[in-house]
Amino acid sequence: MKKKNLCYIEPKIKANLFEAQQANGHEKLIFGVDKKSGLKIVLAIHNTTLGPSTGGTRMAFVSEETAVEEALRLSYAMTFKCAIIDEPFGGSKAVVVGDPSKPKSKEFLHALGDFIESLSGTFLTGVDMGLSLDDAKIIRERTKYIFNSKGCSGVTTAHGVLKGIKETVRYKLGKDNLKSISIAVQGLGNVGGTLVDLLLMEKAKIFVSDIDPRKTKKYSKVATVVSNDKIYSTECDVFAPCAVGEIINNKTIKELRCKIIAGGANNQLKDETKHAEKLHKMGILHAPDFVINAGGVCHGMCEVKGVEISHAMEKTNLIPGILKEIYKRSKKTGIPPLHVAYEIAYEKIQTKKK
Ligand code: NAD
Repeated sequence: MKKKNLCYIEPKIKANLFEAQQANGHEKLIFGVDKKSGLKIVLAIHNTTLGPSTGGTRMAFVSEETAVEEALRLSYAMTFKCAIIDEPFGGSKAVVVGDPSKPKSKEFLHALGDFIESLSGTFLTGVDMGLSLDDAKIIRERTKYIFNSKGCSGVTTAHGVLKGIKETVRYKLGKDNLKSISIAVQGLGNVGGTLVDLLLMEKAKIFVSDIDPRKTKKYSKVATVVSNDKIYSTECDVFAPCAVGEIINNKTIKELRCKIIAGGANNQLKDETKHAEKLHKMGILHAPDFVINAGGVCHGMCEVKGVEISHAMEKTNLIPGILKEIYKRSKKTGIPPLHVAYEIAYEKIQTKKK
């Protein structure tokens, strides 16, 4: 897997599927089709050095090319997320190509279950976007390798993000609490909404945005609501992205008025090499996403490991220490924190190999 630079590189999928699999060192790219039920699925398994691979199965109305790209990119991040938080699993991701808003037949969900079962436990999954817990029950009639730990993983994730924000504020701003620290939260779903509830208890000064006006209305009395395009230019101590990925890109990076970026969203940087370097040069401290949001994977793995959910919450206590090590190493070497995070996770994988 070792490359000159461990950041994810966007492969040219149309040009060559085998090269796309190799570009970031994926072990397997598997396609499944069930003609009778119409199931079409792509599964990317990135690296299984630490253990069997894990990652969600999502269903999306996307092109086959986009499905492959999503599976490759998200499975890559899962490998590093598991490694950095010491979960004994590798990274994978499955994308079912189809319209999730249409009813799914039992036959279709059974075909999906059969696909997962055919991998004999090398792919441990749970339902992600586009598939519900009710769908999971039917899939489970055909496979024991689909898991859905009790409770909402977003809550565990948000607790980890809060601990990460506190550590990052301590490191960058020298403050031991979040009282009057200004924090702009983008996205008020499972992660962002819970994070705002926690930040209110810390007496932080909060700005919020969400494309769903019902969500912002809920917080309009306790936070300042900002429009979706103004959230980037909001002057604040911390920008906490908790919605979609790739929100730090060539356009938004120029608008930023924050000192820290620390939030729960996955794949925050559009170009992980270039944008991490740019943020570093701008003096904005970026808490690597796959570190600060790692509480979610710990939650998801509780059922697999046969432990209580409280175990995942305890694991989020590791996040501040890992971030501190990353920031210290980044300062010493001049390498952006995201790149350092990749290095540390990679070292853990290499140690296991020996
Ligand atoms: P969610 O669907 O519950 O919430 C997402 C929220 O973002 C919604 O309220 C939606 O309206 C809003 N949103 C969407 N696009 C937006 C935009 N452009 N601007 C502002 N708001 C927008 O999802 P979630 O579970 O809270 O996950 C949020 C992020 O955290 C995702 O990137 C997810 O991959 C990541 N994440 C989640 C977990 C978890 O356990 N849930 C774990 C790790 C990472």
